[in-house]
Amino acid sequence: MDNKVLIFSAPSGSGKSTIVNHILAKYPDSMEFSVSATSRPPRGEEQHGREYYFLSAEEFRKLIEEDKFVEYEEVYEGRFYGTLKSECERIWDAGRVIIFDVDVKGGVNLKKYFGKAALSIFIKAPSVEVLRERLVKRGTDTPEAIEERVAKAEEEMTYEPLFDYVLVNDELQTAYAESEKVVEDFLDDGRLNYSTFI
Ligand code: ADP
Ligand code: 5GP
Repeated sequence: MDNKVLIFSAPSGSGKSTIVNHILAKYPDSMEFSVSATSRPPRGEEQHGREYYFLSAEEFRKLIEEDKFVEYEEVYEGRFYGTLKSECERIWDAGRVIIFDVDVKGGVNLKKYFGKAALSIFIKAPSVEVLRERLVKRGTDTPEAIEERVAKAEEEMTYEPLFDYVLVNDELQTAYAESEKVVEDFLDDGRLNYSTFI
């Protein structure tokens, strides 16, 4: 099979991690999650090479100068995040499909970079109200942080038309089945040429 890439993006709380984890568990031998590099310090139990490749800002800048990134962003001042070309090579050399779980801007940039080798999927909750409820239930954010994420989600929704496929994550089992179908159709050697949509 040719080198292929799956890009999952979504406003926070839409269910992106839930669906990505389902896909990874469903096809454990043929797909691998792309580990990003960052210049932020590790949080809690995070490990180098597992959640991120943790670099200093100097190391990160040097790699930018050397053109080692597929894409990167300075998400907060001095805090860089990006995908290393070497990470993509590592996964492809193992004969696997790369899975990206990135924010909507990163998703659009990755699609531009990989073109027809990539399928970009925008995951969205059925409504902003449902999204807010899910963030509340998840219980990982303060009420202020939830309102910030919801406000940001409204802006992030404007990226939807730039993706190859839009998956509405309403009933979870239905969303799982739909994600499997769209991934299988794409990997089944581009029977659907999504790149023509943008
Ligand atoms: P994201 O990665 O997009 O921020 P998560 O995958 O963490 O979102 O999902 C947000 C919360 O919503 C989690 O608590 C998750 O268990 C829940 N969730 C995800 N999909 C559904 C669904 N279809 N129905 C109900 N709850 C869901
Ligand atoms: P966190 O610090 O919470 O792990 O991530 C902060 C933000 O950086 C999130 O919005 C996340 O999606 C984004 N991010 C993580 N990895 C990458 C990457 O490789 N490229 C880009 N552009 N953003 C990333």
